[in-house]
Amino acid sequence: MSIEGQIAGIVFGLIFGMIIPRLPLLFFTRFLNLERGLSPHPDPIPVDVPLVQRMLLIRRIHMMGWVLAAFPLLLSIAIMRTSPEPFALGMFAGVIWFILSRLIPVNIQSGVGIMPMKLVRQVNNLRQPDPPCCNRPRPQWEVRKVRCRYCRTVILNKPRPDMGRIRSDGRLLGLFRILLMDGRSLYRSEEEE
Ligand SMILES: [Zn+2]
Repeated sequence: MSIEGQIAGIVFGLIFGMIIPRLPLLFFTRFLNLERGLSPHPDPIPVDVPLVQRMLLIRRIHMMGWVLAAFPLLLSIAIMRTSPEPFALGMFAGVIWFILSRLIPVNIQSGVGIMPMKLVRQVNNLRQPDPPCCNRPRPQWEVRKVRCRYCRTVILNKPRPDMGRIRSDGRLLGLFRILLMDGRSLYRSEEEE
């Protein structure tokens, strides 16, 4: 095989290995209509039962990615055991990239993964802020933190991950964001700084 052919094989394999584990996320958050129950993107999301349910759903979708990651991983290992195919090598690298990007937490205290259970519990506890920030607490998750709609008190200093709403910047950009960021927020939690 020519050098060009080998490079093309590696690149295709890499893309393949990176996209397959993200298929559930792409499909559920970008092509299915998950709009019901939540305010449209990019509006703040009220901290309430629908938000917690959506977080659990997104968490399950992320878990499905792990199941799908097994296919390109095992396939590439099986191919490479018999012959060093560039495509298999690229695919292997792509899956390993996916695994590392999921396993290495941005902040060890906030848990592993894009939607750690710890975060779901934290947000669930905010439905009735204790102590209340004002006489009618209305926490809502804005892009960078959870704040009360009325008194604007910061209740949780965590950026909002992708909740699967159709993004206001369109499906295509949303697609690339999922591939690059896995639904993580572009913003860092200020607790970490
Ligand atoms: Zn308040």
